[in-house]
Amino acid sequence: MSNKFDIIIVGGGIIGKSIALRLEQEHLNILCIDPHYKANGSASLAAGAMLGAFAEITTDKTNEMDKKELQFRIQSQQIYPEYVENVEEYSGRKVYQKNGTFIIANVAGKLDRFNLKTIEEELIQHKKTYERIDPSAIPNFQPNREYLAYQALYLPFEGCVNTTDLLDALTVALEKSERVNLMDDLVLSLLGNEQKITGVRTKENGEIYANKVVLCAGVGIQKILDFSSDISKKLPTLMPGKGVSLVMDTEVEFEHVIRTPNRDFACGTHIVPRSKNSVYIGATNRIANTPGLKDGVTAGELHSLLHSAIHEINTDFRTCNVQMMNYGSRPITTDRYPLIGEVELEGLFVATGTYRNGVLMAPLIGDIVTDKIMNRNVRYENPFSPEQRRIKYNHVTTDKLLENGIKDLVSFIQEPAGFLPYNRSQELEHFLQILTKFAFLEEGEHQLLLEESQQLLRDYPVSEIVPQLFYRFSEYMKEQKNMEEIIQV
Ligand SMILES: Cc1cc2nc3c(=O)[nH]c(=O)nc-3n(C[C@H](O)[C@H](O)[C@H](O)COP(=O)(O)OP(=O)(O)OC[C@H]3O[C@@H](n4cnc5c(N)ncnc54)[C@H](O)[C@@H]3O)c2cc1C
Repeated sequence: MSNKFDIIIVGGGIIGKSIALRLEQEHLNILCIDPHYKANGSASLAAGAMLGAFAEITTDKTNEMDKKELQFRIQSQQIYPEYVENVEEYSGRKVYQKNGTFIIANVAGKLDRFNLKTIEEELIQHKKTYERIDPSAIPNFQPNREYLAYQALYLPFEGCVNTTDLLDALTVALEKSERVNLMDDLVLSLLGNEQKITGVRTKENGEIYANKVVLCAGVGIQKILDFSSDISKKLPTLMPGKGVSLVMDTEVEFEHVIRTPNRDFACGTHIVPRSKNSVYIGATNRIANTPGLKDGVTAGELHSLLHSAIHEINTDFRTCNVQMMNYGSRPITTDRYPLIGEVELEGLFVATGTYRNGVLMAPLIGDIVTDKIMNRNVRYENPFSPEQRRIKYNHVTTDKLLENGIKDLVSFIQEPAGFLPYNRSQELEHFLQILTKFAFLEEGEHQLLLEESQQLLRDYPVSEIVPQLFYRFSEYMKEQKNMEEIIQV
């Protein structure tokens, strides 16, 4: 094999392979490098995958960039049928897919009803067909009686795809091409100077050259950048959002996705049809130093997944055989938005940061990156280019970030099965909100409360005083909320 190509694509997950197939049609000589895309740990293989443009909407993510990301998901959803058809045609393989998503709200998700409301508002605004339905009418929906759903929406146009089928078909399609070379190797670093990229250094095959390199190695990109001197400074840091999922045999056929809205940093509880007699169950999300963030599937992650699916979706799952367990790392940028386009360095492109929606976004990313590489007018707006990112971002205040994060944290630490009695989850939320405000916010904010608390500790230097602070903080948060309401009126 030659060691000079038109383009090197680093990473053979859904993003790398989708870009490779689009570029193949441009008659370029392509090298796609991946140590082994089927190894456990790849995000694409651990995904269901739901093609959720609307079902992924939540009340806390409605700023300008969130709207642009929604638009991005909608556009990719619209071109999905054509994309799958193309992959099927090139590979001669069939890719299993289904239409229709039920989104349920139940007592396990504190914010479910609010998220459903926001989803419905967006559906109306985008003139999409949907139905409000009685949850008991959802086929094969049979939750435990303590977890009955009280509300549901049906989105007939929002479906799912079997990612194993899709990745296998993409691989076959690329293998068939004379212009594409698939190389089983690990990219260690990039070659080039401050102005221009000239290739990559690999573990087994040494230096390989190309005028253009596309980084699509998911969370693996970070390591490559760390070993590539100054280039890493030009891109935001990536972190892994480890997710665990299962595939189970079923006796009945599930025809549609059944899911809750997003919860606790992940896509909520969901089942995705995998074949006539199997379903996918997803998914957990463990970020950075959360316990369990190691290679492999932990008992705690399985416990959480199975508890939710059995109780919230169908109690019969408890007697089903587990066919497969997967884990993978979602690539997350530091502001949670994708990163797509040309880096400030001639010849270097990046396509990552797709977090929970990379399978859905793959066709649109493939088109955008191809147009950019071919120097054509990009047909779709790309709000996620490295260039745009520097100008526009930094929109979330620390206050808001902590508020949303703590809401999800309190819900997350009660998983699985957990409910705190009385109103304690909200009280705990308030307690943590105030503590983080003291720790992270500008000096002077909430000063009176801080002084009052310090005085209390001086007056009563006993551990029994901590519960008093717990209730005082909660009371204070309520007072603040009332004040805000009075000001608004
Ligand atoms: C549990 C779970 C559920 C999900 N559910 C959905 C869903 O329902 N819908 C949806 O749209 N998205 C979903 N996602 C998100 C989606 O899977 C990701 O956004 C997407 O797969 C990212 O694709 P990728 O190709 O960038 O990364 P990956 O799939 O991780 O692929 C990266 C590839 O790069 C390779 N690589 C790494 N380092 C190197 C290196 N140094 N050199 C060469 N190759 C390298 C790896 O081997 C890997 O094959 C889910 C993710 C997870 C984990």
